[in-house]
Amino acid sequence: MKVLLVEDEKKIAAFVRKGLEAQGFVVEVAHDGDNGYALASTRAYDAIVLDIMLPGRDGLSILRNLRDRRLTVPVILLTARSELNERLEGLNLGADDYLTKPFFIEELIARIQAVVRRAAGTPQSILSHADLTVNLLTREVERAGRKIELTAREFALLEQLARSPGRVFTRMQICEKVWNYDFDPGSNLVDVYVQRLRKKIDGPDSPGLIETIRGVGYRMKAVE
Ligand code: CA
Repeated sequence: MKVLLVEDEKKIAAFVRKGLEAQGFVVEVAHDGDNGYALASTRAYDAIVLDIMLPGRDGLSILRNLRDRRLTVPVILLTARSELNERLEGLNLGADDYLTKPFFIEELIARIQAVVRRAAGTPQSILSHADLTVNLLTREVERAGRKIELTAREFALLEQLARSPGRVFTRMQICEKVWNYDFDPGSNLVDVYVQRLRKKIDGPDSPGLIETIRGVGYRMKAVE
């Protein structure tokens, strides 16, 4: 597993490099945005760990440029607790995940493994998550053996979340994917549909699977 780490804080970079190498990863480090972008756009990595605030080109501009060039390498953003807008923008630009500083190295390793697994995922016809199964061919949904009737929109919403357990989707991403609409930030359409979906798929013996990430969006809880 080869990882590019773009991080200007030398201490954090050294700590992350050490932790990832101990896990058997091959790690290349860039300490500024220009060098980071040069490496990210010319070499092959399994994942990129990208700080947002960098000297030179910042993390979001690197991400935007990579995605504009159709480079789909998984990207995990490192964000400061206060960088809520940047986090949201990063997800909308196509980041696969984010981690808020400070973090445990074990958490970063788990996130890297998860995004790499998702990126390598083969197309499936049945999504199975905890006691939920979603059949993409017959469009049948079951939770703990109980059949669930969903409308087309509800199904599309569930499909998007269930395809990438653990991945956070912003309301804008959900809106574009499920409704093909340009997102209206004043609309609570997405929230209304998430509530409806929860009512149908959760029950007394089936705890909530869809998690609200405050100020960001929703995700299907990761279940190991
Ligand atoms: Ca920084």
